[in-house]
Order: sequence, then structure tokens, then C-alpha cells
Amino acid sequence: MRDDVTGDAAQTGLVLSGTGGRWRVERPDHSVVEATLRGRVKKSNSGKRADGSLRRDTISAASESLKLAIGDRVLLEDDPGGAVAIGEILPRRSRLARRAPGGGQGERIVAANVDQVVVVFAAANPEPHPRMLDRFLVIAEANGLSSRIVINKVELVGGVDAARERWRDYERAGYAIHYTSVKAREGLEALHDSLAGCVSVLTGPSGVGKSSLLNAMFAGLDLRIGEISESVNKGRHTTVGGYLHPLTGTDGGYVADTPGLREVGMWALSPTELDQCFPEMRPFLTGCRFADCRHSVEPACLVRDAVQQGEMSRARYESFIKLRDELEGNKPSY
Ligand code: GDP
Ligand code: ZN
Repeated sequence: MRDDVTGDAAQTGLVLSGTGGRWRVERPDHSVVEATLRGRVKKSNSGKRADGSLRRDTISAASESLKLAIGDRVLLEDDPGGAVAIGEILPRRSRLARRAPGGGQGERIVAANVDQVVVVFAAANPEPHPRMLDRFLVIAEANGLSSRIVINKVELVGGVDAARERWRDYERAGYAIHYTSVKAREGLEALHDSLAGCVSVLTGPSGVGKSSLLNAMFAGLDLRIGEISESVNKGRHTTVGGYLHPLTGTDGGYVADTPGLREVGMWALSPTELDQCFPEMRPFLTGCRFADCRHSVEPACLVRDAVQQGEMSRARYESFIKLRDELEGNKPSY
């Protein structure tokens, strides 16, 4: 299923969920075992991406957590007596991280080995908030993850073409966008194919149709969202780390059901790095007169030139300014 580990591939596993010391781990044959974490887990986590290339990671990774997270690939060891133990956490190729609870130093891994963030909004009902979308996209970029945007319920605004008009800025910025309707069965196949074989973090406001989309695309998935919140509320386990749901179908893939990106927040993103998290700004960033240009009032700023000449969306630029204010310690923008 995943990259083979040298030696006995049968011993690898993928962490689907876990609470306390017990973890549900999927073996390559898709069977799921319950495993405990060995007291001394080998620390093979470097936090570095294998090819070292793509990671535009602007979050300080000083204290990469060695704790297990959903999405972690592990080596399993069969104990005499039939118990299964996790003996090693394999290097993570990516991760979605958030601040440790209580404002501590360490980051906490929400999900490991994430391939993409899929941000779902509705074309209408509920009314979409582009600035919230921008925030989600920034958080994904800050974690070095690529994003895909889904605009669902397009039949409510007159179909795909009508919906597309409103989201052109994001297409121009280079984001992949899916226009879908569960009701009119629109765009489901392409979205299905973009999730198959990948680990995706699905996020977005509630009521936009995330569960409906998944259920329509993956027959028999049965997300059982209620069951998840129920187990969170049972109280015995204080830190439920989320769930990785295997997708049905021949290509496999997983959808991570984690604390939302909103909770992940823009932790540790420095205001000076925010511009890197707007992909359409990147081509201009080395051209501003001042190396530390804030792209607001500075002379000879290529970003502002681009906005003035219509090469970059004004709305996205204004989002940038608001988020930057926020990161600099001013009031949240919404
Ligand atoms: P979630 O909170 O994002 O998981 O959203 P749900 O999947 O629970 O859907 C919220 C509501 O939107 C439900 O009443 C769905 O039936 C409805 N819904 C989902 N997809 C569509 C769609 O494409 N068009 C319309 N009109 N309603 C939809
Ligand atoms: Zn500038």
C-alpha cells in the first residue's frame, strides 16, 4: 500500500486512530489490529520530507513531536502471546501540526503523512466566506501542504458556470477547484479521483456537504460522524487524535477526520512569512525594492503593482493585509 520498508513489508502499519495507549493500525492487507506503543519507540522521525524538495515549511519544526498521530506509518512487532506492539514510527513525509494545548512550546501533530488539504465550501446555504477560505489555505501552505478547493451545492446558484464566476481569483492563484453538487450529481467523479489513493484532510464549515459528498462518492463509507463526537465526549479519553477513514474502492486512500484547520490555526507563522503562503504573490516577492517589504505602503512594491494592474486579485490582497495585521498582534479580522 505505502512505500515499502526494507525487509518485511508485512510488519508495516498505518495508524488509523488511537486513544490513550491503544492504537488501531491498518496492516498492508487492510486488516486492522489494535496495538500498543512500546515504551521506548525508536526515534526515526526527522520531520524532513524524503525528497527534501517540496517543503515550503514556514512553521518552525524545532520540536517535532515524537508522539504518534493518525497517518503515521509504523513498524509492528508481534509479541509472544498474540499482542501487537508499535516498535518504530517511520519518518513522516508531511504533517499537519498545531500548538500544544495550554500554550506550551511543543507542536502537536494532528495528522501525519497528509497529501492534501481539501477545503469545502458551499456556493450558497451556508453563504461562503472567502476570507475564511483564505485562512484555511494559508494554514495548509504554512504546513507545506497543497490544497484543493471544493465548491459544493452549485445547483443552488445556477450550476457550475455561474458558480465558477465567483471563484476565479482562486483558479488564477493556481488552486485546483472542484464545482460539485451532491443533489445534481455534478463533479463527483473528478473529486473522487482526486481523493483516491491519497491521504486528505477534509475541512470546511459545517453544513456545506462534506459528509454528503463523501457518502455520495464512496459507497459504504458511512462516516458515522455522530459516533465520533460521541466517543470524544465520553470523557475517559481526553485526547482523541482524530480518525483516518479508509476510502472504499480499488484505489484506496484515506480521509482524515481531525480537529478542524481552524483549531490548527496559524500557529508560529511569522508575519514576514505570510506572503509566501499566497502562491500568486510568490513570483513578485523577490522583486520588491525592500527585502523586508510588507507590501502595504512601501515604495516600489511589486505585489501592489500587480494588484493595481489587475494581475493579482484585490480581494486576496486585502485578505493578506488583514491576516498580516492579525499575525502582527492586532485584532482578528473577522
Ligand atoms: P457537513 O456538515 O459539511 O458534513 O454537511 P452535510 O453533508 O451534513 O450536509 C449539510 C446539508 O446540506 C444536508 O442537508 C445535505 O443534504 C445538504 N447538501 C449536501 N450537498 C448538497 C448539494 O449539493 N446541494 C444541496 N442543495 N444540498 C446539499
Ligand atoms: Zn512588496
